[in-house]
Amino acid sequence: MNKPPERYDVVIVGGGPGGLAAALALGRARKRVLLCDSGPRRNATATSLHNFVTRDGATPADFRRIGREQLEEYPSVEARDVRVDSIAGGRGDFRVALSTAEAVAARRVLLCTGMVDEMLPLDGFRELWGNSIFQCPYCHGWEVRDRAWGYLALPGSVGHMVPFTIQARGWTSDVTLFTNGLPLPDEGRAQLGAAGVRVVTGAVSRLVARADRLASLALADGTSVACDALFVHPPQHHVPLVSTLGLALDDNGYVKVDPMRRETSVPGIYAGGDVATRGQSAVFAASAAVQAAAMINLELTMDLAAGGALP
Ligand SMILES: Cc1cc2nc3c(=O)[nH]c(=O)nc-3n(C[C@H](O)[C@H](O)[C@H](O)COP(=O)(O)OP(=O)(O)OC[C@H]3O[C@@H](n4cnc5c(N)ncnc54)[C@H](O)[C@@H]3O)c2cc1C
Repeated sequence: MNKPPERYDVVIVGGGPGGLAAALALGRARKRVLLCDSGPRRNATATSLHNFVTRDGATPADFRRIGREQLEEYPSVEARDVRVDSIAGGRGDFRVALSTAEAVAARRVLLCTGMVDEMLPLDGFRELWGNSIFQCPYCHGWEVRDRAWGYLALPGSVGHMVPFTIQARGWTSDVTLFTNGLPLPDEGRAQLGAAGVRVVTGAVSRLVARADRLASLALADGTSVACDALFVHPPQHHVPLVSTLGLALDDNGYVKVDPMRRETSVPGIYAGGDVATRGQSAVFAASAAVQAAAMINLELTMDLAAGGALP
């Protein structure tokens, strides 16, 4: 006879800042949790993580190691390096298939799977991502303050180019907007002029690095512009699992959640962290996932109370 699947209150998919924080909250609430983590980590190429109070400057690996160590205090939490391959069933009784060929049962599922950044087809982009090419000035701006900054506009991020580059002036007086051939409205050009942001409209053809750091951007017209730190918001996509779940997405392609309960359009499946927002940082991810964890815990306990099954 087949052994019945191991039953958990919650399976958390993803062990980044979001998943770790949610597991901590649920462990402290005495819920039986399986935290599954496998695959590329979004900030894997960064040498340090910043702007997370008490962990400013930690390596991403240390951040996760400490998170895992703190979970060991809570016996109802199991953390495993395993991929979740599929999720079937529904609220109260999900079947979660793992890459080890095991299947477990869960009352609720919390997705903290992050997002996958798409590397731009520019030579050197992948190598410089996280080292001289960044997505967030709060994360890495301080380390490159007063240096030559650039912002590379892309079709999906034209709305950011004016406010982002004006904001960047708070970190350095040397800011260049590379519109990369994309249109810049007159009003935006005037705002940038008033803020002292240089505008370069030509197509960017190449990234020029020196000693493994970005040095300049070469343009298709043969000129080049010095740049020590390039900020860019490349397109992102979901991990394969999320795309199979039939979840409603918001206008920007992130998983749509109820703002308070953080439940997705599929009852019983919740989401926290980058997977559900373009506002992406480790502390935002931890916060959103803890909010989801608290709502899940409330619901699970209410279910038990309704069934007269509270321990
Ligand atoms: C280069 C770079 C540097 C950054 N630096 C900073 C910084 O200094 N400070 C800051 O606050 N933010 C920083 N960020 C942003 C920050 O890394 C993210 O906002 C944060 O990691 C999001 O946390 P998360 O838990 O939502 O997702 P993630 O950290 O991406 O974690 C998701 C995890 O889920 C796993 N996963 C996905 N699918 C499955 C599956 N099917 N089964 C099991 N596991 C799965 C992934 O492999 C990954 O390990 C940086 C981002 C980048 C790209």
